[in-house]
Amino acid sequence: MKNLNLRIYPDDVLRKISKNIEKIDSNIINTVSQMDLLMNENKGIGLAAPQVGISKRFFITKDFQDEDSEKFLVFINPTIKEMYGTIESKEGCLSIPGYYDLIKRHEKILVSYLDQNGKNIEKEFSGMQSIVFQHEFDHLEGILFPDKLPLIRKEIFFKKINKEFKK
Ligand SMILES: [Zn+2]
Repeated sequence: MKNLNLRIYPDDVLRKISKNIEKIDSNIINTVSQMDLLMNENKGIGLAAPQVGISKRFFITKDFQDEDSEKFLVFINPTIKEMYGTIESKEGCLSIPGYYDLIKRHEKILVSYLDQNGKNIEKEFSGMQSIVFQHEFDHLEGILFPDKLPLIRKEIFFKKINKEFKK
């Protein structure tokens, strides 16, 4: 399998809507462990398949229940079933390196997904796990965190990154 590399804005793959995973095979398992390496190398806390050029519905995150562990969580074909409250979140993205801003997220979410063994899981997340889940989930929809900024701040943000990251 070829090495994966990080896709940086404005790579077109970051704007595509990803497709469901039909079957969890060894290819996916290899890909998620490579993604974990890449995430750690770049000091990330989550990484979605489109960020490594794969338009499929899965992502990984750190396990925020157990921050000291090397463990990471795998979310396949995730859905957000319920969302509650609002929280401000200062975010960055490995695909837009060096840029951060404050956006609004849901405080708590009820999600369902398959884990790497194909087991269907339903869980409620709050805090960082909720925020990172929403950030990575957006990647599957072709949405980047600055899209969530209020209009004026969004224009300023994109003006800056369009200047820095050229195609
Ligand atoms: Zn991101």
